[in-house]
Amino acid sequence: MLFKDIPGLHPIKATLRRSVQNSHLAHALLFDGVQGGGGLALALAFATYINCENRGEEDACGQCASCVKMNKLIHPDFHFIFPIASSKKIEGKTSEPFLPYWRNFVLENPYRVLPEWLDFINAENKQGNISVEEARGILRKLSVKSYEGEYKILLIWKPDIMNASSSNALLKILEEPPYKTLFLLVSDQSDRLLTTIISRTQRVTIPAFSDQEVKEFLANKGVQESTANQIAYLCDGNLSEAMHLVKETADDRSAWFIEWMRSCYKSDLAYLVKAADTFDAMNKEKQKGLLDYSLRLFRDMLVWGHGAGELLRVPQEELTFVQNFSKAVNIAALEGMIQEVNVAILHIERNVRAKMVFLDLSLTITQFFQRK
Ligand SMILES: [Zn+2]
Repeated sequence: MLFKDIPGLHPIKATLRRSVQNSHLAHALLFDGVQGGGGLALALAFATYINCENRGEEDACGQCASCVKMNKLIHPDFHFIFPIASSKKIEGKTSEPFLPYWRNFVLENPYRVLPEWLDFINAENKQGNISVEEARGILRKLSVKSYEGEYKILLIWKPDIMNASSSNALLKILEEPPYKTLFLLVSDQSDRLLTTIISRTQRVTIPAFSDQEVKEFLANKGVQESTANQIAYLCDGNLSEAMHLVKETADDRSAWFIEWMRSCYKSDLAYLVKAADTFDAMNKEKQKGLLDYSLRLFRDMLVWGHGAGELLRVPQEELTFVQNFSKAVNIAALEGMIQEVNVAILHIERNVRAKMVFLDLSLTITQFFQRK
């Protein structure tokens, strides 16, 4: 994770960079953020910056041996502690056996929250904890000689869920930290931390992402502008929530599209008339969103039909449908459908009655299916 991968938060990034450039590193930092915020991502980018062998003014180089290892979260001087829970998948009282799963979880998306992590490992106990064994084992973890970097870094995710004995074990270590060791505590509920722990750290307060930053993040994920605007409005700067909303929107559209295509294929006129009424009642943004989505799938099918299947970016859930659908129509029909959807979008933009546009389009697509 590099600073540039994280949307916005420029003043905080600048402060963190300066602390490295001026060698003013506190031995323990508390990344104090909100749920679905940038705390973990920033701590990772910060650790990457510290360890980088070819550090720039603005960011780590992303290329050197250290950056490459940090990018996979396998740097030998970089350690993790995070909550765990007994799981069907993995056994263990410390985070060690969970590490491969944790790396995948973080690399996929570093803005997620604890319940998502516990789901990820199929935890039976939905609380998650950092055991006292784990806290007491910190020194052992860090006693291994520094291999490559100047510092040994330990990132603790969610220290706020530690119970009293674990917290006290951590506190003891923070009171007498080992030489050349950095502790990065990442919390999204810092009000639950012992004040004695907080007072041993330098606090980095991380605000929620702004609407603009959420939009930037979603745009990078290929989310359409109108959808991104709605989601930014709903998620209050929480990127974990934003991704849930993206998925919901996608599920919603995908189900709608599949039902629509089935009905066209079966020439189910009664359904299509009803669907046209529903479509008519939607606002223009939503109508255009659905048609844009259909257009994207038709184009993907065309790519598939041309035998360039590896180009498909279709989500796994829709892939089977797309593949079967592509078999049900020929390329000329698909090209025709794409053209008709484009015309429909144009008509919607020009305020032609949506019910007519949609019914027309449905009937044309029905004919394309029959022409085969
Ligand atoms: Zn580097």
